[in-house]
Amino acid sequence: MKFTPRILFALLSALLVASAMANDYPVKDKIITIVVPFTAGGPTDRVARDLAEAMRKPLGVSVVVDNAAGAGGSIGANKVAKANPDGYTLLLHHIGMATMPTLVRNIPFKVESDFEYLGMINDVPMTLVAKPMLPANNYKELSNWIGQNKGKINLGNAGIGSASHLCGLLFQSAISVDMTTVPYKGTAPAMTDLIGGSIDLMCDQTTSTSSQIEGKKVKVFGVTTTKRLVTPALKEIPTLQESGLKGFEVTIWHGLYAPKGTPADVQKRLNDALKIALKDPEFIRKQEGLGAVVVSDKRSEPIEHKKFVAAEIAKWSPIIKAAGVYAD
Ligand code: ASP
Repeated sequence: MKFTPRILFALLSALLVASAMANDYPVKDKIITIVVPFTAGGPTDRVARDLAEAMRKPLGVSVVVDNAAGAGGSIGANKVAKANPDGYTLLLHHIGMATMPTLVRNIPFKVESDFEYLGMINDVPMTLVAKPMLPANNYKELSNWIGQNKGKINLGNAGIGSASHLCGLLFQSAISVDMTTVPYKGTAPAMTDLIGGSIDLMCDQTTSTSSQIEGKKVKVFGVTTTKRLVTPALKEIPTLQESGLKGFEVTIWHGLYAPKGTPADVQKRLNDALKIALKDPEFIRKQEGLGAVVVSDKRSEPIEHKKFVAAEIAKWSPIIKAAGVYAD
């Protein structure tokens, strides 16, 4: 190809436009929206609101949360997959990015190719919690109660394909008991019904259950990690493995995404702001208090984030298939 002055000018202009776009980003007075694919007041929302606050300063503009709940997180994820890739619409999602493709058939987007990966945020354990009036006070008593109430137990979750759905399915498969699944649009409404007693059990992130456990609004029967938690208020809770569910392990993680095609410099600006936010002592303190662990600098690299999600898809797909737990 011959570089005539005309072609050179066109190339140079394209470069200048690209760098001006990135340098201007984010434009003062514009708002960055983080879409949360679950209801307000739930664990994913909680992480997003704390993160939005911590990213506001390094970005110099307002960062707000938009709850686009439903279909186990796929409605919000689809909204961002189809959004303008200009850096003003982002997605904060959890392990669902890796489990949805196997757990829910026919999602209208591709996790691997419809997003830019901006970095991981944290790891969050889950807990098995029950309505406060359930007549059991430890895992053994719960297991007897389940045995006596087969066919009558309601297990709530945040929607088909959500993390609580996955955890609940694995729990039923581990104890070989089928329960009636009651899907909600997020943890927040499910938690209200659990506290009120219209559902019996739920599995959910400590980022929402810890305050309810501390306030004795729900009963807790186990954590889903291999080791007990270090958070003072949660360290007495046995692991489900300790209680006899061999190999039971689910850890939820959160990551930040932009629509495919978001300019590289904008992605870099967002990743830089994310890394600053993850070192913000106030953000770390809030996350630790809820049982969540903020990821290291290395894990918040976009390339590591993408590798991790691919590895999680590879890890969960055979487990979900083996447990025969699908949703349409
Ligand atoms: N905890 C929910 C889930 O199970 C999501 C939420 O409401 O944040 O995926």
